[in-house]
Amino acid sequence: MTAPMTAPIATNGARVYRLGEFHRFDAGGAHFLYLVPAGAIFAVDTAVGKLIDCLSSGELPHEQLMEDLAASGLMIEDADELIAEMYHANVIVANDSVPDQPQPLPDVFPIQTLVMNLTNQCNLSCQYCYEFGADKLATPEGKPKFMDLETAKTSVDFLLAQSGDRRSIHITFFGGETLMNYPLLKEVVAYANERAKEQERHIDFSLTTNATLLTPTIIEFLSENHIGVTVSMDGPKEMHDHLRVFANGKGSYDIIEPKVRALIQNHRTRPITARVTLTAGVSDVIRIFRHLKQDLGFHEVGFAPVTTSPNQLYAINATGMDSVLDQFHTLADEYLEHALRGESHGFSNVSDTLAELCQGVNKSHPCGAGLGLLGVGPSGDIAPCHRFVDSDAHALGHISTGIDRAKQADFLRRGHIDSKYDCHTCWARPLCAGGCHHEAFVRYGDTGHPNLHYCDWIRDWTDTCLRIYGAIAAGNPGFLQQFAERKAS
Ligand code: SF4
Ligand code: SF4
Repeated sequence: MTAPMTAPIATNGARVYRLGEFHRFDAGGAHFLYLVPAGAIFAVDTAVGKLIDCLSSGELPHEQLMEDLAASGLMIEDADELIAEMYHANVIVANDSVPDQPQPLPDVFPIQTLVMNLTNQCNLSCQYCYEFGADKLATPEGKPKFMDLETAKTSVDFLLAQSGDRRSIHITFFGGETLMNYPLLKEVVAYANERAKEQERHIDFSLTTNATLLTPTIIEFLSENHIGVTVSMDGPKEMHDHLRVFANGKGSYDIIEPKVRALIQNHRTRPITARVTLTAGVSDVIRIFRHLKQDLGFHEVGFAPVTTSPNQLYAINATGMDSVLDQFHTLADEYLEHALRGESHGFSNVSDTLAELCQGVNKSHPCGAGLGLLGVGPSGDIAPCHRFVDSDAHALGHISTGIDRAKQADFLRRGHIDSKYDCHTCWARPLCAGGCHHEAFVRYGDTGHPNLHYCDWIRDWTDTCLRIYGAIAAGNPGFLQQFAERKAS
């Protein structure tokens, strides 16, 4: 979290006021402010609206502001109280407001999530894969292809030791294709549960898979052990098979479709999520959503444009990104209609942002990578997240010797919002914070570079989600309750 931007040092009478840093939006017939330094949402009533109007053409001394508010119909004592309250809330700031110094990063961060890449091998050859494709960072030569039991157990012990006094921690299994090392996955779940029980802690598990290797036995195991599942799937057959292919070029849809149906039907303990990678040939968002949600029955469907250098054939160009945004708007409108009826819609791009808004997220870093989340590869090398696993240039130590604190500090310093000067005047920074470190490296060669190629897109989408939030807050506030405890990713 970033620190508040202002601190009062003088008395009211000497102050000259101006508007604070906020983004205005209207929703559900009401007016709101998104207060940027706090990452908070503020409902604007008539009096606050008058105050903002008074300061909209420039700064005013205290007495003048009082007079203008009185002229607009406010009682003088109400005007004084309003100014004080809005100053305190940072809706307005004054000449005596001084920017707080950025908070120094603590030396040690308790880990909440360990992403264990059980193998760096995959039975598909998806052309856009960040692990094997043209933009790959991994340097797996000479390293184990599959994690062994000893490394896995040491990783679990490492997570327990590095997670401080957190009562609840999380392991995500990843690959390559995660289920190519299913025997190890089973052993890790048993070992981690046993160790967590000894310490009276709770470990939650999830995995990401391409679904090709799912069997009734594996599905039963996942269900019995409450393991959350995300399936990488890109839509109906002709879209999915565009890039998600086996080494011989054959598409994987026909293999996974019955397995996905069985997973959704028989996994009784956790909702099943589809994760779609949008590319130049696969960007028909609405059709993909309908197929995955309605035809196959996924509970949630989330979309992410491929992270790649712009010269790859499958990269989405600006026109394509505009089309994606238009389609996101359509699904967001549907989401709102569902939410106002108290129903789940399943478009997780909205749900994820609503969760962050409900929690008042104000990010110092775009995600937990290197902070509360670490990746570990088959060799035991520690990485900022799963996407940097097996990359020598980005390793942050080894689970047997611990985190390399100097490298971690360098990664976090460069990724901190304070280091991203282009973001300092952007109202979307509490949620964006410059965007994915991995994408930044692929695009700009620096994990700390802001992802400036999509700023307008991000601001438009953030504004959309703010309006959805405001409309739900006005029309069915109880719906937002579910996000209060939901973890922001
Ligand atoms: S990357 Fe762009 S959208 Fe994101 S915080 Fe920085 S300036 Fe804003
Ligand atoms: S947003 Fe990027 S850097 Fe962060 S965890 Fe995801 S892939 Fe890794």
